[in-house]
Amino acid sequence: MGILCLAAVKAEPQRQGDDIREFGALPLYGPWKFSIGDSPLDPATRAPLWADTNFDDSAWENLTLWPNKWTDYPGARDHAYIPGWTARGHAGYWGYAWYRIRVIVRLRPVSQFLAVAAPDRVEDAFQVFLNGTLIGQFGDFKGRTPTTYYSQPTRFIFTVPPSSRSYPTDYPLVFAIRVWMGPRTLSTSYEPGGLRSKFILSTEDEIELAYLRNRSDLIASQLPLIVCAVAFVLLAILAYSLTLFAHSDRLYLWMGSALALMAISSGLRAFDLGTQFVLSILEDKLILQCFLWPLVYLVWLVVWSMWSGRAKSIWTFAGSVLTLIHMIMNVRLVVYGPSPTFDGLSFLIRVMFIFLLLWTAFPAKRGLTLEDSLVLPAVVLLAIRAIATENLIEYRVHSWTIFDAQFSVAQLVDFPLAALLAILLLHRLRMSARRNRVIELDAKRAQVQSDFVAAVSHEFRSPLTTIRTITDLLIDDRIPGESKRRESFLYLGRETKRLHTLVEALLDFGQIESGTMHYRMISCDAFEIARIAVAEFGDQAEAAGFDIELDFTPNSALIRADEEALRRIIRNLLENAVKYSPEYKQIWVLGEIENQMVLLSVRDRGMGIDPTDQRAIFQRFVRGDAAKKAGIKGTGIGLAMAKQICDAMGGEIHLQSELGIGSTFTVVFPLAKE
Ligand code: ADP
Repeated sequence: MGILCLAAVKAEPQRQGDDIREFGALPLYGPWKFSIGDSPLDPATRAPLWADTNFDDSAWENLTLWPNKWTDYPGARDHAYIPGWTARGHAGYWGYAWYRIRVIVRLRPVSQFLAVAAPDRVEDAFQVFLNGTLIGQFGDFKGRTPTTYYSQPTRFIFTVPPSSRSYPTDYPLVFAIRVWMGPRTLSTSYEPGGLRSKFILSTEDEIELAYLRNRSDLIASQLPLIVCAVAFVLLAILAYSLTLFAHSDRLYLWMGSALALMAISSGLRAFDLGTQFVLSILEDKLILQCFLWPLVYLVWLVVWSMWSGRAKSIWTFAGSVLTLIHMIMNVRLVVYGPSPTFDGLSFLIRVMFIFLLLWTAFPAKRGLTLEDSLVLPAVVLLAIRAIATENLIEYRVHSWTIFDAQFSVAQLVDFPLAALLAILLLHRLRMSARRNRVIELDAKRAQVQSDFVAAVSHEFRSPLTTIRTITDLLIDDRIPGESKRRESFLYLGRETKRLHTLVEALLDFGQIESGTMHYRMISCDAFEIARIAVAEFGDQAEAAGFDIELDFTPNSALIRADEEALRRIIRNLLENAVKYSPEYKQIWVLGEIENQMVLLSVRDRGMGIDPTDQRAIFQRFVRGDAAKKAGIKGTGIGLAMAKQICDAMGGEIHLQSELGIGSTFTVVFPLAKE
């Protein structure tokens, strides 16, 4: 007999064995009375007779719900494990059963709000009657058989009448618990049947506190599932995003779908286990066990067969048939409870499916690649997962407790699986990004080359057109007067020279590019060479109306270089300065020595170069945006050539430019010793 004292208690005679608690919580270990079966109803009130305060339960079995701290039950979350009725003489029984207990509360002379915390493990649904009145239930008792939910912390609050006397009075409470357990629980739980942990009787505040704590514990224990769900969502997004790189690759769509389905099922399970009354156990199992999970494995079969190159409709068809049978088998098991034949068949089908999965995932033709070393373990993990569901309960490896959280086989498999898939997908993402970059570069290169061909053709066409027109006129004798004819010859000469320079430049460029250009490296005066280059260019500059200002400090600077090559660089830079400075016709050629380096610059106040173009223009065939927009013709090989020559001779070329302000190209060579 339990006595809960809710007032200062005077020394009262106690019966031996009484469990007396003052202002505390009274765990209702017993003695309980227990009977299987269901209560007859009062014909008048329709109330169950077994719930009645005065019902004579003396013929019922005696039962104590002492927790067995030394149990080796692998799924026990704490030490409060109590074996169910199947371990207490009712093996294989499923259906209704009743528990009754009588408790005395010692009342204070004020009204009391009391509560009972129901066991956090009950198989499967129950109703609590207090002194014949229903005070609450867990599960839904409306249907022919009750609807059951995954265990949740539950508590029922009630009041007892205040004592009329000024000193504590004893008030008897008779709790009658009507429990229902469905047939399926026989195979999904260890030693199942009824109450699996204790009721606690206490004041409302205390029970409420414990209830809130238990609820948050329960939600926290779903963390592994939630983490898995989040991981699978992220992986699904990753897989789907890969379709952006490989539009035609349906593999990633399938993979994303498999991962999304896994995320949904993990999330749904966490929701069902951690919150109250979302899906009943039956609905949960029908959706997850009978439909979602078999479907997930089928989708993975498609994914891996595509991956390995074994994607043949025959395998997918075989997989679909096995999945369908598996689904039907599971529905039979979930709805009608366990049956050795169906359990065995379901197991067999799963084994067959797993063989199919492993076979299709194995690369068809090619040898094993680095990726396969990730794929094959992932497939093995999936296989373990597929076989492990529920069945393993009989082999006592249903779940493990790690850091206070319960992990089922499936969850333990999910973590390494998610990690493997993450590595695999990230690897693929990197490869795709790289491939895309290569494709982009190729396209850009092709564009640049075709621009070059167009530019070169154009460069050839205009002098050729001039030459042809003048020649035709001369042949037809249509140019009157000697002076006009002389002028025509001058034109012809100028255009031929232009063509010659162009061909020479192209030939040199070819030589420089192929690395067959020979440099005669000697000690020479860089500033003197610059002066010669400017002098050579003088006529051209003058003709275009340009003035070139020279400033060398000191007067000479010795470097090791090929004279002709250095002249070519300076000429190129001068040509560009003239070409790209149509308005401000002034060029500066400057020479100085700084930190043992010889700096030779060609500066203009022309159109300048966009910062985004400044690196690229040193690549062959690349032309700046501003130049193209201004309609200035060119081939894009001058600077590439200058850079190549500089590199070959151990020098550097730098650029400082601002759009609309001007550009300075500086050639830098180490100062040579005298
Ligand atoms: P091209 O002049 O035949 O186009 P280059 O290799 O000599 O080829 O030059 C590459 C590009 O660099 C030019 O198309 C132009 O956009 C830019 N550029 C070179 N020099 C100058 C300059 N002095 N001012 C402005 N832009 C320049």
